[in-house]
Order: sequence, then C-alpha cells, then structure tokens
Amino acid sequence: MTTPSPLLMIPGPVELSPAVRAAAALPPPSHTSPRLIEAFGRSIERMREVWRADAASQPFIVAGSGTLAMDTVAANLMAPGERAVVVKTGYFSDRMVTILLRWGVEVVEVSSVVGGAPPAVEVQKALERSGRVRALFATHVDTSTGVRLDPEPLCRLAREAGVLSVIDGVCATAGERFAMADWGADVYFTASQKAIGLPPGLALMVASERALAARAARPGTPPPLFLDWDSWLPIHRAYEERKPSYFATPATSLVMALETGLGEILDEGIEARVETHARAAAAMRSAWRALDLRPVPRSEALTANTLSALNVPAGIDPAIPARVAAHGVTIAGGLHPAIKNSSFRVGHMGYAVTRPDFLRRTVEAVAVALREAGAEVDPDAALEAVDREMETTRV
Ligand code: PMP
Repeated sequence: MTTPSPLLMIPGPVELSPAVRAAAALPPPSHTSPRLIEAFGRSIERMREVWRADAASQPFIVAGSGTLAMDTVAANLMAPGERAVVVKTGYFSDRMVTILLRWGVEVVEVSSVVGGAPPAVEVQKALERSGRVRALFATHVDTSTGVRLDPEPLCRLAREAGVLSVIDGVCATAGERFAMADWGADVYFTASQKAIGLPPGLALMVASERALAARAARPGTPPPLFLDWDSWLPIHRAYEERKPSYFATPATSLVMALETGLGEILDEGIEARVETHARAAAAMRSAWRALDLRPVPRSEALTANTLSALNVPAGIDPAIPARVAAHGVTIAGGLHPAIKNSSFRVGHMGYAVTRPDFLRRTVEAVAVALREAGAEVDPDAALEAVDREMETTRV
C-alpha cells in the first residue's frame, strides 16, 4: 500500500489541478509536432490575457526557474555601468540586487523594515535624485516576508521618469491584481510552479514593446546566447504563427501543461481567479487570527493573497513545519535571514485556492501542531473561522 502524498502547501511548487497533471504526463511531444506548436502558440496568446498585456507585448516561455527570468531581464535591459533602482521588500529583491551587481549595474536600493514596503514617495525621490536611471525593479510579492506591494504607482512613477519598470511576479502572477498594459509595466515575469499552477521548470516573461526596443538599443556585447531575447524572438513569433521553429529545445511537456493551466485560469477569468485567491487568503487570515498567529507583513494592505508568512508565537518551538508534516501537510519554514528561525510560511495559490478542503486541512494541521507544541489554541475555532469566512465570501 502506498502512503498518500502530503498536501503541498508551500509557496511553490504547488498542488496541481487534475487537468494540468494529465497534460504534463502526456508522452513528451516533439518541439516541431503540430500539437506542440498549437500549445505553444496558444500559451503565448493566453499569457497576454493573464498578464493583461497588449498585442504589441512579447511573451517568452523559456525552460528554467524564476531566477533565470531575473538573470534574463537584467541581461537584456541593463548594460554594465548603467543604473537601476531596486525596491527592497525581502530575500528576492535582495537576489535581484545581487544579479544586477553581477552584471556590473550600479544599484540604488530603496529599503524598508522586514515586513514593510517603502512608500511610493521614497521610490519617487530615489528616481529623481539618482538621475540616469535605466530601470526600476520591484517584487510584487516577496515570498520571504509575504509582503505584497502595489505595482501600479511604481509603474506610473517609472513611466513619468522615463525609466523602465520591471516587476517580479514570481509569487504573484495570476494570484494578485496586475494589468500590464493599463499600468504601463515593461516586464512582468513569473515561474511555472507558483500561482500559474504548473510543475517547476518554466520561466515566463512578458516584455512590453518599449522593453523590446530597449533590448534592441542596448549598448555593448549582447547577452549570453540562451538569455538573449533576440535568440528567442524568432521562435516565439513562428510558434504564434503556428509554424515549426527551433532555437533550443523547449520543455515540451511543460508547454502542454502551460496551455492547459492558462486555459483553466481564463475559463474562470483572470479577475475572478485573482478574487478567488483574495477570498482564500481572507479565510486563511481569519484562521490565523483565531490561532493568535501574527503575520510578518505590517498591515493587511501589505499582506499577499498567495501566501501567509507568520511569526512563530513566543515560547513555541520554531520547528512548526516538521510538526505540521506529521499531519500530512507540507508547509515551509522561514527564509528571510532576519526571521528565518522565528517565522514560517504557508502557500495558498493556484489550484489549492479552488479547494476549500485543502485550506481546511492545512489550517487544522497547523492548529494541531501548535497545540502539540504547547500553544493554547483551539483547532475547532480556527476551522470555524475558515468556514465562516468562506460562507460569507463563497470560496
Ligand atoms: N522571485 C520570487 C518572488 C520568488 O518567490 C522566487 C522563488 N521562490 C524567485 C524569484 C526565484 O524563483 P526560482 O526559485 O523559481 O528560481
């Protein structure tokens, strides 16, 4: 007898829908087969809809993880010696800084306390004071702190300053509000294993017309071949025209899954899907309140839909994920160095937000684990809180 797999409730990889799982499990098609060409072409078109991007924007589907998307964006938009402003909200904006520094970029950081986000006016000041800034980088949801910032005013400020805006949507895309065309964002990227609801393995980027022009005008030696958008443009254009093409072998099984996953999101409607994430997050927050768990983000407005980053209660053994695992649910420990041993994280994105039973199982496992660790909590009260919230909001 096989043991049932634990429920995967970390902030990516995530539980998959049955249809996505079935698409990923098909025999891998050739990269020139009609079925793959159709799946690739449709995925490009569907990405524009999910990103709410315009027809002139260019989606890129590349085998790799979110970090590959970060490297790719830096390599295509920035030349050594150019300047970037980075809004820092946690571990992943720190990673963006590291990547930019490796490209020889001069980085101006706009920081905040852990669990906070710098106000837009600070970003505006940094853009005005620094001069010659090429691009503004920000993380939509930083997975180490659970902090969600509002990209809309940042994209507007970038536009006003004549600066490109790059938003890391790895822990946000399809789970948080985003309107690439309306907000004038220049790059919004994610990875497949998050709210898009696929297995890991795809870096997904959409570049605006302006971002493509910036690549074309970028001075100096071109980016490494695999990272260069110019390498990928012809094959993406060919696939969209439903023609076979080759640059480097795509992850064909994942592209089959992508077509299906994006299709499921669009069947619900992107705005409705984001709303489903918001309702699931509200249900989880009410459970955490019932368990006296304090979120890492400093305000409700800064609290992401896609995950909960929670402080370990005082006097409780921080090994909460191990205790929760004993109850059949996988959650994540802390990641940000400042709160690594005093926080833990629960993912609620992708297919899981359409499954109230997954949310309940997770809350129950966390509640029981806390009680076993010595906290005076009532698992039933936490489940009632979830049920009440779902009743009012119809998850
Ligand atoms: N940015 C954010 C916000 C992330 O959450 C992650 C991964 N957790 C990354 C970038 C890097 O993605 P990957 O692990 O897929 O390389």
